Amino acid sequence: MTLALVAILGLVMGSAVTALAYRVPRGVSWIQGRSACPGCGHTLGILDLVPVLSFLVSRGRCRYCGVRIAWRYPLTELACAAWAVLLTRQVGLGWALPLLGLWGFLLVALFWIDLDYQLLPDVLTFPGTLIGLAAALTLPHGAQHAMLGLLVGSGLLALLAWGYFKLRKAEGMGGGDIKLAAMFGVVLGWKLTLLTLFLAALVGSLWGAVLMARRAGHARTALPFGTLLAPAAMVSFLWGDVWLTSYVRAVTGR
Ligand SMILES: [Zn+2]
Repeated sequence: MTLALVAILGLVMGSAVTALAYRVPRGVSWIQGRSACPGCGHTLGILDLVPVLSFLVSRGRCRYCGVRIAWRYPLTELACAAWAVLLTRQVGLGWALPLLGLWGFLLVALFWIDLDYQLLPDVLTFPGTLIGLAAALTLPHGAQHAMLGLLVGSGLLALLAWGYFKLRKAEGMGGGDIKLAAMFGVVLGWKLTLLTLFLAALVGSLWGAVLMARRAGHARTALPFGTLLAPAAMVSFLWGDVWLTSYVRAVTGR
């Protein structure tokens, strides 16, 4: 019963996340104004804003002009619902739940914005870091855990950016990635932060290999690092501890 409510709340938040990811990089206010169809500009009614269901009923088209609605809308809503449910199962009902819920929703928004614009806006990563820090402080040893995560995550990426700049005389990694690392570092601590960086680099390399195999390796088709980091951080939060424990067990044979 609780999980069903949490799932519905996640769907609704997912629809807000899509709006956020659409409006923030375009400089449209996301507090005022109703959502409108990007095709015809028709203001969307309550019925059009029902997550997933409205997409299925209208068969992925705007009710007013018939323009195709991107798959990302229902996809984002489902991802946010899944995050809400899995998070609730992990942390239970308490202060950490709304804080970490919001933290994850912001990461989903950052995933899309970086994919579309190669941009990780401070207006999302700064509040995200504060929310993550507040969540970490609800846990025992939270402050130390958060500080180490931030230092390892942001520090490592800053070091990489500096090294790349020295070698290539060009900017490889943006400051946005470094700030994003602070946002997930405070929540994850240093171990899961390292796991996040590893997962993102791994998926990025696999994606690059696929592109090369298909001889389509333009810079345009490479995935931005933030788009890889954001879901990697969420996955690490949910399953990282289990993975690391079984990995250590496999290596040490105990
Ligand atoms: Zn329309």
